[in-house]
Amino acid sequence: MKITDVRVVQLARPLDRPQRNAQGGRAERVFNFVVVETDAGITGLGDAFGDEALMVAIVERRLRGMVVGLDPTDIPTLWQRVFASRAFWEIGGSFLCGISAIEVACHDIWGKAEGVPVSTLLGGARRDRIEAYASDLHWEEPERMAATAASYVERGFRYVKTHVGAAGEEARDLERIARIRAAIGPDVGFMVDINTAFDRARALEFGQAIAEFDPFWYEEPLSPLDHAGHAELRRALGMPIATGENLYTVHGFEPLLAAGGCDFAMPDILRCGGIAQTRAICEAAAAHGVVPTPHNFSSGVGTAATLHLMAAMPETRLLEYDPTGTAIADELFVEPLVVEDGHVAVPTGPGLGVRLDPVSMERWARR
Ligand SMILES: [Mg+2]
Repeated sequence: MKITDVRVVQLARPLDRPQRNAQGGRAERVFNFVVVETDAGITGLGDAFGDEALMVAIVERRLRGMVVGLDPTDIPTLWQRVFASRAFWEIGGSFLCGISAIEVACHDIWGKAEGVPVSTLLGGARRDRIEAYASDLHWEEPERMAATAASYVERGFRYVKTHVGAAGEEARDLERIARIRAAIGPDVGFMVDINTAFDRARALEFGQAIAEFDPFWYEEPLSPLDHAGHAELRRALGMPIATGENLYTVHGFEPLLAAGGCDFAMPDILRCGGIAQTRAICEAAAAHGVVPTPHNFSSGVGTAATLHLMAAMPETRLLEYDPTGTAIADELFVEPLVVEDGHVAVPTGPGLGVRLDPVSMERWARR
């Protein structure tokens, strides 16, 4: 089997309320689906994370020519051709997001060709559903955030994550965190995500201030490259630190793990290089006594890929799940993901086990 074409299909969905975090946020969500076609008539689906114009250029103008003609079921050769041979030039960022999308789509094709779910290709599902945390409680008025957090707990989630840390919002952020903790009660795991906004002094001060609200983890307080800073903060606060969504490939995680910079490692399957790299990162993390908790903010295709990997790797914990409805998986998938009691079922169909509904695709089409 050979790859015959790779293209990007873009969907855009305006948001009822902007999703804000310490780095700005967004007023609409754009999804870059990557469709990989083969001479066997099997099509694979990936999800490219990043700027819409950039992802089209990278996937269609740069990567397409490198992968057409390759066997989509031979993932190691694909990796050699598109990453290892270009590593002197591009080792991260949007280029890796493009590779990740194609790598995921190739796993989808491989599973469909074998007639098995991707989890089977990865050694078999050890779990049929994965516990998730309700992520993407974005920065808004404190009382609104508290009410939304409580609604997630009512829906069955036992873990909730919030985004705070915008400049000038220090006092209000403490109020937000206090109100959310009061709304969800003492038994729900509560993650606090700074999206890399702080310097070391600010991260320490804020960490000390939120300690009384018992965060389950303190996420990306610092630059993703400040491994020593994360390690120092971890020691000083005695509070679990999570980071990794902005790191690429297993080599990108090695210095973080060697520095003892986190308790939870968060590779993103759509950014770090795809399923095989995420697996390598999760194995490396576990070998360092760090819990792999994959990052996931996707259309739903990335969620499906992450579910298959987590099902095959019992050492992984806590799927990041966007319960806001804006991920559009609910309306896009012919068979929507099943979420129950704070757990997401691992799809059982061939490949990723998700199919896009043409009517919804048409409705939100941008390109
Ligand atoms: Mg984050």
